[in-house]
Amino acid sequence: MRERGTITRAEVSIQTQLSRSAVSNLVTELIDSGRIVERAGAAKGPGSGSGRPSLVLAPVLPDGVLLAIDFGHNHLRVAAADMAGGIRAERSAELDVDAHAAQAMDRCANLIAWVLADAGVERGAVLAAAAGIPGPLDNGAQRKVRSPTILADWVDLSPAVELERRIGHPVAIDNDANLGALGELHYGAGRDAGDFIYVKASHGIGASIVLNGQPYRGASGIAGEIGHTQIPGGAQWCRCGNRGCLETAVSIEIVRAELHRLRPALVDPAVAAEDPVARRILTEAGRTIGRVVADLCNCLNPAAVILGGDLGEYGAAVVDGLRDSIDRYAQPAVSETVTVRPAANGRRAELLGAIALAAQHATYHL
Ligand SMILES: [Zn+2]
Repeated sequence: MRERGTITRAEVSIQTQLSRSAVSNLVTELIDSGRIVERAGAAKGPGSGSGRPSLVLAPVLPDGVLLAIDFGHNHLRVAAADMAGGIRAERSAELDVDAHAAQAMDRCANLIAWVLADAGVERGAVLAAAAGIPGPLDNGAQRKVRSPTILADWVDLSPAVELERRIGHPVAIDNDANLGALGELHYGAGRDAGDFIYVKASHGIGASIVLNGQPYRGASGIAGEIGHTQIPGGAQWCRCGNRGCLETAVSIEIVRAELHRLRPALVDPAVAAEDPVARRILTEAGRTIGRVVADLCNCLNPAAVILGGDLGEYGAAVVDGLRDSIDRYAQPAVSETVTVRPAANGRRAELLGAIALAAQHATYHL
């Protein structure tokens, strides 16, 4: 129910492989204790053979708000949402998050105070909080930032500890790509896919590998750093100290600079995607990312590749390039079954993922 919102008794029986009578006993117990309700689901519509809606089970959601925090390299977004994911209030700020960790977290605490005031709720009404950090975190209990090449001023900091100290509430933490993937899994383009790759292409290029509905983190929490895969013919030095990494060939800054050089009047992504020259630049960027993603597809056989981040805002032009490379370099049996699509939530996927993560933490305590 936490994953889907609602579920029928028959679906519970299939998922758990428990008999219908065993499911019935457990459902009665949960209804009697006030933790779930049974109500009419959506009507199946004409042609389904039955106009009568089936009964569905739904969790009883607690009152109160979830706090969602999205740290980008150059921005900070904070939202207060209800348990069903509806946003009650939201604020954002532009700031150099990478270079000023303490300042970014102070600012975050301020925005949270404003957002709670906007939503008209007291601090005591906060059920859970979650935040996304734009860099890899380790798997230790404190989830510390470990990469000196990505967030130099944040190294050895525990954002969870720092934020809890400032806002007085525990904060669940994950990296931005994993939260973007969660946002698409719960509220966007990943809802029908349990196994998919979410690519966040912005300042850097990271991926979240979702297996069986869960982001895969790897042994030390660094899984998905596809931006540092060597691409054929790449020779430029990368900030990680290697040459020819994917990030040296494609990033939002590189694409914007190229668009500005050839088509200076095109600022709006939706307009740029319609221009034939800009389209070529965008499709080529997609192809370059797709060369790396194609190898991942061969390894993992995902149902979907979802493109998020600033480059995802350019939509079909970049997605078409990704598709080209996957068709060209992944095994035919793999490329035939994978769909490639832009993130449904665009640059807000990470914020929505933070809401989903906070909701999971709030539900654990029901
Ligand atoms: Zn690199």
